[in-house]
Amino acid sequence: MVLKLFNTLSRSVKEFAPSATPGRKVGMYCCGPTVYDFAHIGNWRTFVFADLVRRTLEFSGCDVKHVMNITDVEDKIIKRVQENKTSLRDFTGQFEAAFFDDLQALNCRRPHQTPRATEHIPEIVALIGKLVARGVAYQAGDGSVYFSIGKYRGCGCIYGQLQKLNLEELRVGERVAADEYDKEAVADFALWKARAPQDGNVFWPSPWGEGRPGWHIECSAMSMKALGETFDLHLGGEDLKFPHHEDEIAQSEGATGKPFVRHWLHGAHLLVEGKKMSKSLGNFFTLRDLLAKGFTGREVRCLLLTSHYRETFNFTLDGLHAAKASLARIDECVAKLRELAGGTAGVPEAKLVEAFSLALADDLNVSAAWAAVFKWVSEMNKRLAENSLGSAEAAAALAAWEQVDAVLGVSAKSGGEEIPADVAALLEARQAARKARDFKKSDAIRDELKARGWVIEDTPKGAKLKKI
Ligand SMILES: [Zn+2]
Repeated sequence: MVLKLFNTLSRSVKEFAPSATPGRKVGMYCCGPTVYDFAHIGNWRTFVFADLVRRTLEFSGCDVKHVMNITDVEDKIIKRVQENKTSLRDFTGQFEAAFFDDLQALNCRRPHQTPRATEHIPEIVALIGKLVARGVAYQAGDGSVYFSIGKYRGCGCIYGQLQKLNLEELRVGERVAADEYDKEAVADFALWKARAPQDGNVFWPSPWGEGRPGWHIECSAMSMKALGETFDLHLGGEDLKFPHHEDEIAQSEGATGKPFVRHWLHGAHLLVEGKKMSKSLGNFFTLRDLLAKGFTGREVRCLLLTSHYRETFNFTLDGLHAAKASLARIDECVAKLRELAGGTAGVPEAKLVEAFSLALADDLNVSAAWAAVFKWVSEMNKRLAENSLGSAEAAAALAAWEQVDAVLGVSAKSGGEEIPADVAALLEARQAARKARDFKKSDAIRDELKARGWVIEDTPKGAKLKKI
């Protein structure tokens, strides 16, 4: 499978070839959540997209090392920590845990490494030190350390690799202290922010005095630590192209003198019911909001996977109902094939797998991939209705579907919902308590499961979990 992907650096669709051809190892970094709130459905579009990229690479035989950072210190977090009069770790910990629960509910493969910024302060300080030593960063009168775009460009480096920027209007020495700013505010940006009263207890020592890192330097330090100074693939939402990713390139290449990332991939925005998502319009959804409306993680995943990653996607509740119906069609067909195959192991039937992989190889053309799946479902349903399918053919069809679903990740499991490991462990503990006739404990565990959204159904075949 020759995989072609759009590279934001060249603004063109290019063959994606891992740098380490033997073993086909791929280093892949995706900017992770800023854990100051629950991730919304626009964020989830990016994370499901990253999961699709990873699964497609694995499907094509690559050995992916997937790294996703946790931004647990930046401007918005500090503001909320102060407002909530809590500690940084207590505050971010709850949203980090919720993020991983949601990631699992959406059946995204967990990244191999999920480094936290607060646990990489020495690496961040060392990277800033390198930039200062190379003359592309400086400490300003306010005590903070800034990246000098002028000095960086003076070394022949390019600022504006991902997005065209009007650098002619750049005024030397003009600075921006905030983590987020727009294109009109291109200026020297903060690497290390001097301790300020509003930061409360959030500060660390450094050669430039007490303070905290800027958001952009966190990703440069963590990605290069995990994947090396030059790595294959960096992904994120298109809103991160500027300034975040542009600054990541400048900091990394400014420190090492080597190309930072070979291939950049950006996922497009998401609208909800045709409008930009906002709390005031009532179209702002976290995954939890959608689960509370009775949808499942796999229905949300399925809908998010119907749109091409470079196109703005209009997410609607009608679309979710349609995704539910599509999944029911697949489930019914797969269940019939399973019954007919009766446990026979099959060699994957090539037609579906070929059509599906050709579609994905073409810059992740998911519309064509789904078309191949539904053509297959129609054909299988026809053959099943005619009773013209033998058990070996059913097994081969099933094996092909399993290969395809290794990428899509939408199959029904455990009655439609994947059971998180900690929930499964609670069920086991409850069974053990019942066996020991400790009903007080078993009732307490049942209540705990209920609080987490699961009910126990005692069936003749044993206890089963069902999502509320
Ligand atoms: Zn990042």
